[in-house]
Amino acid sequence: MCGILAYLGKEPALPILLEGLRRLEYRGYDSSGLAVMEDAEVLCRRAPGKIRVLEDRLADAEWQGSAGIAHTRWATHGKPSEINAHPHSDCRERIFVVHNGIIENHQALKEQLQQRGHQFKSETDTEVLAHLIEEYHQEGLLQAVKEALLAVQGTYGIAVLSADHPGKVVIAAKGSPLILGIGEKGIWAASDVCALVSHTREVVYLHDDDLVLVDSEGYQISNLHSQDISRPKRTIDWEIRDAEKQGYPHFMLKEIHEQPQAVRNAMRGRLLQAEGIPKLGGLTDVWKQMVDMERLFIVSCGTSYYAGLLGRYIIEESTDIAVEVDLASEFRYRKLNFKEGTAVLAISQSGETADTLVAIREARRKGALILGLVNVVGSSIARETDAGVYNHAGPEVGVASTKSFISQLTILYLIALSLARHQTPSLSERQSFLRELISIPDKIQQILDGAAHIQSIARRFSQYRNFLYLGRKFNYPIALEGALKLKEISYLHSEAYAAGEMKHGPIALIDEDFPSVCLAPRDSSYEKMLSNIQEIKARNGPVVAVGTEGDRELPKICDEVIEVPATHEILLPLLTTVPMQLLAYYIAEERGCEIDQPRNLAKSVTVE
Ligand code: GLU
Repeated sequence: MCGILAYLGKEPALPILLEGLRRLEYRGYDSSGLAVMEDAEVLCRRAPGKIRVLEDRLADAEWQGSAGIAHTRWATHGKPSEINAHPHSDCRERIFVVHNGIIENHQALKEQLQQRGHQFKSETDTEVLAHLIEEYHQEGLLQAVKEALLAVQGTYGIAVLSADHPGKVVIAAKGSPLILGIGEKGIWAASDVCALVSHTREVVYLHDDDLVLVDSEGYQISNLHSQDISRPKRTIDWEIRDAEKQGYPHFMLKEIHEQPQAVRNAMRGRLLQAEGIPKLGGLTDVWKQMVDMERLFIVSCGTSYYAGLLGRYIIEESTDIAVEVDLASEFRYRKLNFKEGTAVLAISQSGETADTLVAIREARRKGALILGLVNVVGSSIARETDAGVYNHAGPEVGVASTKSFISQLTILYLIALSLARHQTPSLSERQSFLRELISIPDKIQQILDGAAHIQSIARRFSQYRNFLYLGRKFNYPIALEGALKLKEISYLHSEAYAAGEMKHGPIALIDEDFPSVCLAPRDSSYEKMLSNIQEIKARNGPVVAVGTEGDRELPKICDEVIEVPATHEILLPLLTTVPMQLLAYYIAEERGCEIDQPRNLAKSVTVE
């Protein structure tokens, strides 16, 4: 959520900042801006809307300065506008700040600063930082930033440039991701490695309360109490092409097509086929505790929450662990007393989801074992868990999550199977399950190869305004995810229900203008799904069904059928998810929506 970038080095900063901003744009895109140090002056330009508007405004800029900061915003305080776009500056327009996060005590600070004569120009919480730094600016830039940060409550990732201190950039992080990139041509700081990887693969992940001074000598990390800090350098293991569209019209479509690989990557090196068990290296240290686990809370948000819901079904299917799934933002409101044998599993693609971070901190305080399932290596959740599993799904840039969901499901199967081996399944059952799991990427590919059929259905259904998604058991979370995908990128009203609930309310909505998307593969709830579909048809509701290849019943009663290959019932979600994504994608495309940057949304939600 919001992209920050800073650069100090040997090259002109402007093109580097613009290129980085384009790569960060998926994190926020309501306005953008940048500031560059040019001959002991800071030049700043900002623009409402997408980064291309900023680029247009910079078309005449021949800035050669080699230090600068940049921002693409997802507004929290103050509407999206040029005046609220970052960088924000002090009264003298000498100090410039870009910020990700929320300064919670900004109102009180603003009033104090106004009483001291500071003039505010924007409606943002961020601007107080520039004025606070101004208050201390005579103490040197690093010290001034430190003093300012000691006064604020809330979360921040910031980069600061001051005309009084040319050749320096100060970076600080607390509750917002920031990564340093160390390259031959300079030093970068960014919210996401996407913005760095075309320049360097050597990175340092900053932790909360880290404060960094970057100058021509290099970088120095300390904390707010002036203690020096050392953080390890790491090498990013993916290439810039992983974060590019590679000929696809949208990142979302590219990432949908990367799903066979995402499943393979989630399994790679983790299957002991002879023993019929997965081996999850990241959990080895806590495995004994996991085997003794009696209660597991899965906490997550959005799409990851739906992965968690499926996690509950599949872990409970094969173990006697009681699993609860909580929206991370609500978890803190539960008065839970954790007994021994309780674990909390946080699921988050970015590993930075603020609500999920707060939830695991609360759970840690209460003594639970904390586990993580995250995609972004070195992210805050990865650091704050006792143990965990990485997705290795590669960068996900489309705001609507796709491949990371499939990857999360795959890993949840591996976790469930690892835990299950202490219960009932025989060696041959486990081996057969692993064999089937290994065949899933090819089956996903088969669905992708039939995308044109889904596109034609999308064309036919794109004129409807409302959709009901229905599924049962393992496919109930997938119905929820399908409805979320559609509303996220097409802005159509869609809601999902467990199909058994339909008669308790939603059926009142059904008429010829209210289509239903029904997940009805051949599984143990198939007959009941057929009855639900009949009930919808009896009320003239149009139906798109997802069914198993070769099903003869569904075409007789449904308006459209999308087929998925047969597989074990429990693994069906890995297949039924894919038509949900493609249907949402093609409906949004048909409606001319901005698929990779849906309105009001942003990737990596780092505010609560
Ligand atoms: N709270 C700041 C604002 O509304 C920063 C938002 C962001 O992270 O983009 O401007």
